[in-house]
Amino acid sequence: MQRYSFFSLVRNAIGHHEGWQEAWRSPPPKPSYSVVIVGGGGHGLATAYYLAKEHGITNVAVLEKGWLGGGNTARNTTHVRSDYILDDNAHFYEASLKLWEGLSTELNYNVMFSQRGMIRTANFDAQTQALLRRGNGMRVNGIDAVFLSREEVRRLAPALDFSATARFPITGAFFQPRAGNARHDAIAWGFARGADSRGVDIIQNCEVTGFRIKLGAVTGVGSAGNECRFQRACGAARISGSGRIGGLYRALSARRRFSVRGRPTQASTAGSARGRIRPAIPEEAAPAARRSMRRDRQ
Ligand SMILES: Cc1cc2nc3c(=O)[nH]c(=O)nc-3n(C[C@H](O)[C@H](O)[C@H](O)COP(=O)(O)OP(=O)(O)OC[C@H]3O[C@@H](n4cnc5c(N)ncnc54)[C@H](O)[C@@H]3O)c2cc1C
Repeated sequence: MQRYSFFSLVRNAIGHHEGWQEAWRSPPPKPSYSVVIVGGGGHGLATAYYLAKEHGITNVAVLEKGWLGGGNTARNTTHVRSDYILDDNAHFYEASLKLWEGLSTELNYNVMFSQRGMIRTANFDAQTQALLRRGNGMRVNGIDAVFLSREEVRRLAPALDFSATARFPITGAFFQPRAGNARHDAIAWGFARGADSRGVDIIQNCEVTGFRIKLGAVTGVGSAGNECRFQRACGAARISGSGRIGGLYRALSARRRFSVRGRPTQASTAGSARGRIRPAIPEEAAPAARRSMRRDRQ
């Protein structure tokens, strides 16, 4: 694998950037693999990478129907956090956050992980209590969590609406300092490059259309008339929540028997807002932030 560094950047700049190797190969599929992973999103590619790296299993194929990281991985809000209250969740996501902290170095690929912190604002007393409970649960599990007063939130995120007429008055906030954002599709590309360099075959534009099942066990996957045999199958393709909700919305609207209302829950770190708001702010605070930013522009 070609290493990315300042020196390789200078060397390639001198060569008019014509000497870069492909980040991953595009090999033809072999007739058989030890493991076939269906879906080249963050989960599928991470599974391939860690199978090769941690377990030495490299006779692996990742079959992706489109392009790598083009599924949910490409359209998520990019929050990376471990703010969960139940013990199992807390440990699982904290282990994941710790992986993120070293991932750019490990993969030699800049996944643009920025630990800018994340706040969840409280707008009324019951919400304050719920956030305190969440924070305390995290602290019991050794995870960083801080409760901020209204004034502390104002200092950290002045773009939010603190006026007397705010539709969502901010009473305080929960803050996880080590949380942050990453470049969502870079994680797919980084894992793809790492897996490929260890011998994993990544095959794009290859939709899995069926499974061969013998005596109750999956022994092969079918794709566009071809069949690929393997010893273990692993599904990493997923149906997006928004896709399902979109389908439901369309079905109900077509019958005109229900009134279905959409509610924007887009977090304010996505897109252009990311540069303006330092800590990540998920959905609860987003309407207040957007309103205040709209006023700024007027
Ligand atoms: C709007 C939104 C916001 C989100 N925000 C966050 C967030 O802030 N933080 C967070 O941690 N998570 C967030 N998530 C969740 C997160 O994005 C997903 O959990 C994660 O991306 C799932 O990765 P994946 O690899 O399982 O799925 P995907 O990235 O969807 O990958 C599945 C892949 O399988 C492929 N595929 C499907 N069917 C087939 C087939 N038959 N054959 C071959 N390939 C196939 C698809 O093309 C796709 O590339 C969000 C999700 C959405 C939709």
